[in-house]
Amino acid sequence: MNDEFVSAVILGAGAAGFFASIACKEGLAEGRVLLIEKTRAPLAKLKVSGGGRCNVTHYCFDPKVLIQNYPRGGLELLGPFHRFQPKDTIDWFKVRGVELKVEEDGRMFPVTDDSSTIVEALKKAANDAGVEILLEKRLKKADRIDEGFLLEFIDGSFIKTKALLLATGSSKEGYQLAKEFGHTIDPLCPSLFSFNVPDFPLEKLAGVSVELAGSSLKNGKHRFDAPLLITHGGFSGPSILKLSSFEAMTLALKDYETDFFIDWLPGCEERKIREELEDRKTNHGKKTVILDSFFHLPKSLWKELILKAGISYDTTWNHVSKSLLEKILFTLKMDVYRMKGKTPYKSEFVTCGGVKLSEVNFKKMESKLAKNLYFAGEILNIDGVTGGFNFQAAWTTGWIAGKAIQDSQVLT
Ligand SMILES: Cc1cc2nc3c(=O)[nH]c(=O)nc-3n(C[C@H](O)[C@H](O)[C@H](O)COP(=O)(O)OP(=O)(O)OC[C@H]3O[C@@H](n4cnc5c(N)ncnc54)[C@H](O)[C@@H]3O)c2cc1C
Repeated sequence: MNDEFVSAVILGAGAAGFFASIACKEGLAEGRVLLIEKTRAPLAKLKVSGGGRCNVTHYCFDPKVLIQNYPRGGLELLGPFHRFQPKDTIDWFKVRGVELKVEEDGRMFPVTDDSSTIVEALKKAANDAGVEILLEKRLKKADRIDEGFLLEFIDGSFIKTKALLLATGSSKEGYQLAKEFGHTIDPLCPSLFSFNVPDFPLEKLAGVSVELAGSSLKNGKHRFDAPLLITHGGFSGPSILKLSSFEAMTLALKDYETDFFIDWLPGCEERKIREELEDRKTNHGKKTVILDSFFHLPKSLWKELILKAGISYDTTWNHVSKSLLEKILFTLKMDVYRMKGKTPYKSEFVTCGGVKLSEVNFKKMESKLAKNLYFAGEILNIDGVTGGFNFQAAWTTGWIAGKAIQDSQVLT
């Protein structure tokens, strides 16, 4: 393929690249749209996503609420979500024969519980729309020519295009290309991970989950009250994952070594707990503290927390001093642990950082610095918490970029 001319090139055949190329080409006979993938496996990440089920989006239809799930990019996504949001994602797939179902926590999956359903639907939609897909095609260099681009590939071929969309996810080459076109790359670091705690005192409780617990970093800006999971070597579950996401940059700067707090009773005020503990001492003095779990905490957890507070096995309430009562209170409300390292959550890392958002026009997903250059998906400094929010950002930005390229008349 030497010196070919096409209307638009979409680089990266992931979620954002597929959505963009379909939106760009669908309904138009004229113009060539090329979706170029460097590997032999398009949609590889989507295939393994959501534990092989693909958490496509989230059951949340109010853009103002939706954006609260994006530590980075929420504000910028408000306008785009008014144009393409989870309701549109559900409809998009429905029209193409894929039904989504919602789980109790709002996550949405294909009814087949199989990510291949989504992969096949995207491939078919691209094919039906007339998108041309090139696999295992590696870009060597991209130069500006007039208001378009000249792309040179490792195999020695050249492609001229009027519009170029970078949907290269978290790949280094994508960031490098964006830089070459004058863009700033905000510092990159992982988001969404579990916290490792060396010599973990709650190791025996691995697998226990607590319905509601609050987690926060020492001197941190955020706190999340949500389910918490105790693992073999630390903590995970929605409360910790959200914290890892919203504090991603702080944690990276601390090299994943810092103190953090768990509030085991986020719904209870300190005053109320103190009253209950004093009542225990006064009216249930003969009961053994360790066996007398009365705050709706799992019994095994209560036992470990009481031991951590310094109460021995057979101590009864009437032998607990005032200062020890305060220690129990402290352990229940501000239980402190030291994080040392992180573990990916079901390998579902997303990247915090990427193309600086102020350099992108979110009405079109077009670069403010280079005409006819577009961005979509994870290459941008946008990321969400777990629950389908990351794919939703990819669908939304991909769809807007694709439509903008179509509207720009480069295809005609
Ligand atoms: C294991 C795992 C599970 C996940 N599960 C979920 C989930 O269930 N729900 C959810 O919302 N999010 C999930 N995520 C996050 C989600 O996968 C990403 O947010 C999403 O894939 C981003 O889409 P994208 O198209 O921007 O990037 P990607 O999906 O990463 O696609 C980018 C594509 O570009 C290609 N590429 C890169 N450089 C070049 C180049 N120079 N030339 C050509 N091609 C190139 C890559 O090979 C890749 O195919 C998960 C992530 C992981 C790692």
